[in-house]
Amino acid sequence: MSRSFKPELCCLFGKPVAENPTQPMIEAAFRHHGLDWRYVQFEIDPEALADAVRGMRAMGFRGGNVTTPHKVAIVKHLDRIAESASVIGAVNCIVRRGHELVGENTDGLGFVQSLRERADPSGKNVVILGAGGAARAIAVELALAGAKTLLIVNRTRERGRELAEWIRSRTGAVADSSPWTGDYRIPAATDVLVQATSIGLFPEGEARVPLDLSTIEPRMVIADVIPNPPQTRLLREARARGCSVLDGLGMLVNQGVTGFKFWTGIDADPSVMRRALEEAFGGS
Ligand code: NDP
Repeated sequence: MSRSFKPELCCLFGKPVAENPTQPMIEAAFRHHGLDWRYVQFEIDPEALADAVRGMRAMGFRGGNVTTPHKVAIVKHLDRIAESASVIGAVNCIVRRGHELVGENTDGLGFVQSLRERADPSGKNVVILGAGGAARAIAVELALAGAKTLLIVNRTRERGRELAEWIRSRTGAVADSSPWTGDYRIPAATDVLVQATSIGLFPEGEARVPLDLSTIEPRMVIADVIPNPPQTRLLREARARGCSVLDGLGMLVNQGVTGFKFWTGIDADPSVMRRALEEAFGGS
């Protein structure tokens, strides 16, 4: 017996679809919470993005995700951009609200939610390694959550400067940048260090983040955005020095939980989503 197919969520994907771990994570939550919904993925060329969004509207999708390289370009095709996505200047999550398609950004929200399980970001001195899309989303959300200072440390100095300036001008937070040459020495006043570069992402392996490990102190929270493998070399070294650590898998799960709430109104069970992600990453 045939029935019309009405998927509820879609992912407008820029890379080969096989690389996206979000689908198994979200579909596990659908099953767990008894929703007969589907999350389908489409590999979209940049020049077809406007038509893809029109297709989303025509087919009645309730929302979806957007990946690189569409996160900035999608903005002009949506009806409205939520506050933090607008400050970040990029969208990774689309939510249908009434007749509108609204752009949200869950990259930084997922991180801040993970951090709150260890420490309140308010009043904290934060060092962020990296100045790409992940660093920007995290820096904006930390600034909006009341971080005391943000220091951007990036290999390409100019990009780090631009991000610090972006944060200052759009959030009013105290933000500065620092060059990254040799092994970076973490300032003693740092409360939270966020490794937001792509160093160590699978299949790169045991890559070393250039840091002077003797400057890590046990009271610091050390976070790594790399979701696969979740136990990065940096996190193992930080844990061995007595620090509280946050892995990138937790950030990805919290991003999924945030998107799921936007789309369905349901608080998803994070353990179900984490298990599905671990399986998608091959039990890592
Ligand atoms: P971008 O390409 O936008 O930025 C990459 C950043 O990494 C830049 O700051 C770049 O520096 C830096 N970098 C790359 N290689 C090196 C190196 N060898 N030494 C020093 N710096 C380096 O990527 P994104 O910001 O989008 O993503 C970064 C990582 O975050 C990815 O691994 C991604 O998987 C992860 N991520 C995790 C999420 C999660 O939920 N866990 C969510 C989103 C992203 P430079 O400017 O000098 O090139």
